[in-house]
Amino acid sequence: MIGHTVDIGAVRPEVDADWTIGEVGSLACVSGPSLRISPDLFEEMVDHARAEAPNECCGMIATQNGAAVRVHRMVNAAASPLRYVIEPQEQYQVQTAIEDDGLDLGAIYHSHTRSEPLPSQTDINLAFYPDAVYVIVGLAGEEPDVRAWTIRDGAVAEAKLLVS
Ligand SMILES: [Zn+2]
Repeated sequence: MIGHTVDIGAVRPEVDADWTIGEVGSLACVSGPSLRISPDLFEEMVDHARAEAPNECCGMIATQNGAAVRVHRMVNAAASPLRYVIEPQEQYQVQTAIEDDGLDLGAIYHSHTRSEPLPSQTDINLAFYPDAVYVIVGLAGEEPDVRAWTIRDGAVAEAKLLVS
């Protein structure tokens, strides 16, 4: 794939297949990736972000059929307001726990405490899970601004975050 194009054709069949009307000017209907999350789990993620501020928080969300089942808070080994690092050992433990329960690593979340919840170049460079949704909890404003993204081969696309 070349550059930062949005590869609509790369949507995988196991991704929640809600059909939505594409933006004006786009070709047709696209099946966009999405994450469905309950208000309780959504709040847990935002609480984690607030607890770690001004440092970034990070964690993983186990899903089943595209819906969040639980939130795994993880340690930001960098303990930094500008980046997050998940230690390989903890990453392995959490991913194993998710797989052992027959769930999917549906989303990876972290916070931006001083900037908009848009993937940074570092986030893009370190995005190794093309099938996961990357959730960013933005805490720069009065209210938390939470947005979701897919990052595939360096291409960023916004994903739907359905809190219900
Ligand atoms: Zn980031």
